[in-house]
Amino acid sequence: MGGLLDIEVLESGYGSTQVLWGSSLSVALNQSVVLLGVNGAGKTTLLKTIVGLLGAWKGRIVFDGKDITSLKPNLRIAGGIGYMSELGILPNLTVEENLELGGYFRAEKDNRKRAEEMFEYFPDLREYRKKMGGSLSGGQRKMLGVAKTLMSSPKLVIMDEPSSGLSPKFVKKVIEVLRLLHEHEKLSMLIAEQNVSFLDFAEKIYILDKGQVTFGGDVEQLKGNDTIRETYFGISH
Ligand code: ATP
Repeated sequence: MGGLLDIEVLESGYGSTQVLWGSSLSVALNQSVVLLGVNGAGKTTLLKTIVGLLGAWKGRIVFDGKDITSLKPNLRIAGGIGYMSELGILPNLTVEENLELGGYFRAEKDNRKRAEEMFEYFPDLREYRKKMGGSLSGGQRKMLGVAKTLMSSPKLVIMDEPSSGLSPKFVKKVIEVLRLLHEHEKLSMLIAEQNVSFLDFAEKIYILDKGQVTFGGDVEQLKGNDTIRETYFGISH
């Protein structure tokens, strides 16, 4: 495979409930990848297994040339993986504290510099730096989640449904910001989504269905596949 991230026939689940049944996918350096799938397909489970919050039952996770399948989550983060859960932030911490937490293992001086860079991307956050995360609007919270994830300057950003709970206007804004970050910071991204607005942003798309990857290709290939188009997205053209 030889990508930045290679997932090889991964199996995982909760207790005795198996959710992933041999999922494989790759993210190349500087590539934006979207993982599509309906509710319950196993997207969150796959992301949590990549980050190490869930153990892999079988298979391999290779990041940046190293086998990280059994590595502790904090070492995966320190090694260059940024993870944004669906909630994304800690509501009882201020904006500033959330950012500090995002870069907790870096020197304070580097953290301050990085926070300033984040405020350039997200001017609202500078204004709200002393406010509690939980008091922000849904859109601002998502922006804070993105900024918090980027505080550690990750090579690969993994995001779980950044569009969840947002109005179409804010979904558009999140996509614009991610596109900008992808270009400026040369970020590699793996984004789990069910919102098809993310298709245009994706250089590669995977579809996860019942814990298995059933499609991997670009937007054109996806749109050219009648079954996938109609079954998953109702796009009819
Ligand atoms: P969603 O968009 O709803 O978050 P998803 O594609 O992210 O869906 P998962 O959250 O990974 O899917 O869930 C996959 C399956 O695992 C579902 O059947 C779900 O009920 C089950 N599941 C999720 N979390 C747990 C848990 N903590 N314990 C047991 N089963 C779980």
